[in-house]
Amino acid sequence: MKRDEKGQSKANMNESQTVKSPASPAAPASPAADLLERMVEAKQLSVADAGILAQQAAKGRPELVQSEDHVLKWLAKEYHLNFTDLENIEPDRELLSLFPARVLLKEELLPLQRLNGVVQVATSRLFATQGLDTLKTLTGLKVQPVLAPAEAIRREIKTRLGIGADTIDTLDEEAPLQVLDEGGDENADLESAAEDASIIKFVNQVFTDAIELRASDIHLEPFEEEFRIRYRIDGVLQEVPVPAQIKRFQPAIVSRLKILSHLNIAEKRLPQDGRIKLLLANNEVDVRVSIIPMLHGEAVVLRLLRQKGTLMGMAELGMGPNEIKSFKRILALPHGIILVTGPTGSGKTTTLYTALNEINDLETKIITIEDPVEYQMKGVNQIQVNEKAGLTFARGLRSILRHDPDVVLVGEIRDEETAQIAVQASLTGHLVFSTLHTNDAPGALNRLVDMKVEPYLVASSLEAVLAQRLVRVLCPHCKVEDKSEIAAALKERLGYPQSQVFYKAGGCGECRQIGFHGRHAIFEWMDVNNEIIQLLLKNSSAGIIREAAVRNGMQSLSDDGWRLVRLGETTPEEVMRVTKDQTMFGDGKKLTLDKEKEDIDVISEAEAKPKLVVAKH
Ligand SMILES: [Zn+2]
Repeated sequence: MKRDEKGQSKANMNESQTVKSPASPAAPASPAADLLERMVEAKQLSVADAGILAQQAAKGRPELVQSEDHVLKWLAKEYHLNFTDLENIEPDRELLSLFPARVLLKEELLPLQRLNGVVQVATSRLFATQGLDTLKTLTGLKVQPVLAPAEAIRREIKTRLGIGADTIDTLDEEAPLQVLDEGGDENADLESAAEDASIIKFVNQVFTDAIELRASDIHLEPFEEEFRIRYRIDGVLQEVPVPAQIKRFQPAIVSRLKILSHLNIAEKRLPQDGRIKLLLANNEVDVRVSIIPMLHGEAVVLRLLRQKGTLMGMAELGMGPNEIKSFKRILALPHGIILVTGPTGSGKTTTLYTALNEINDLETKIITIEDPVEYQMKGVNQIQVNEKAGLTFARGLRSILRHDPDVVLVGEIRDEETAQIAVQASLTGHLVFSTLHTNDAPGALNRLVDMKVEPYLVASSLEAVLAQRLVRVLCPHCKVEDKSEIAAALKERLGYPQSQVFYKAGGCGECRQIGFHGRHAIFEWMDVNNEIIQLLLKNSSAGIIREAAVRNGMQSLSDDGWRLVRLGETTPEEVMRVTKDQTMFGDGKKLTLDKEKEDIDVISEAEAKPKLVVAKH
């Protein structure tokens, strides 16, 4: 019998026969034997073939059983099939739409292309014939298997079909849901639709997926012909692939989110804000929900606040040795104000909590007032601002002082009253940490004066200002040297030798093709010393104060960013993106930045997936 005929007959064998006894033909406990056993169990390999492979490996060809890929390649040869790693295969959406997503996901099959009337379908499980048979029966098409690694297939299926494709697929077959739209009294329908098991499952999948990808926000945006879902990961929005039919379920999905956040599902003309508490693998996630009616339906932004955020040390935060030294000096002071400045999402709170962590002990009483509370810290008294109930920053702060704290953290100084109480707190012997929205460190002085704090009071209470931004860290597995002309020109401009290596983002499985993983802070540290105080008392402009600070050794945000570029931790584009520093090419030479990589590879679900639970408030 020719090998391929034998293969055909084997591939058509009843599945139960091939998996009855997961054989371990090689010596037990060796990695190769484990691999073969696993592959037999997953119906990737027949017992007989596993035996042949084990024998050949024992006879001096160990490379055959080195990895799943090696075994699949061997199988492809034996059965005269093609093998692909799926790296450079263009998806054929039209072809994909011919097959039910549910079956593709369940059986891990990926239709690749149609050749001479035969559809090539990628599979890693040649001996799980039921899936291919189902596809044949359902579509009446001829299919031919092409071997590919299991992980790559799962990744590609998820990317191409979109998150929750199977649930949406199920919904698609339920006709009553299709009439959902604006107008009329369909709130009852909407409510039942929102409680539909598939909608619940879909929304849960979006949450689980976002949390696994370390997203900080989920954006659901209605457009005329699409309902877009994006995650903000490491500060940059990434589009999430979703099934094409999802637009039709937009009202039901939004209603589900309203129900979860105890909002009025009948209200569709006014913005609403709410909260959801989620539990994922015992980790509590507090979700801030904001819904705004837009032209083509309600847009939803979900901010994910992890309650067990892990704090790192100052060095891990990205502080250089000088900054750590300055910070430690400030933390030892008995009173004074330390401000961290930067836009929303620049990691200000994390820096302040890292500082609190350094001084949080039994002898120090720490009280915080925040909106929202982003970290929970043992031994620290934390207050959540509640504007509706009248608990504002100012009011909370005034009460805090009666509790005799040593250290106070005020989430943000937003108004004159809070600014003034913060200064009073410092002058009466408290160490006060807070944040301000200014672009750079020197700007904080003028901002306080703008908030009607007398310059002499600013001078006598403010100890240091720290401006900060977050740059994305290059994925160490796939970063590549940037040999572009722009990189060369930048090195010249910055006065670096051309031998200084700059890196750019690649993209690999480890970072889900984004090229970056995690973020590092860059800082601009300004000590409020005598010279600065004198300038402040003379009502000097921010520019003049800045010049003096630089003269006194202040390193700018960009300087600190370039330090990370030289260390190969981030890219020039990242530094310029977050510092908005375009001065590098101020003489008309235009810097072209690569378009932000918007693609995202959603990683396949872990085998033992933690269950997502919506906690009761
Ligand atoms: Zn990577």
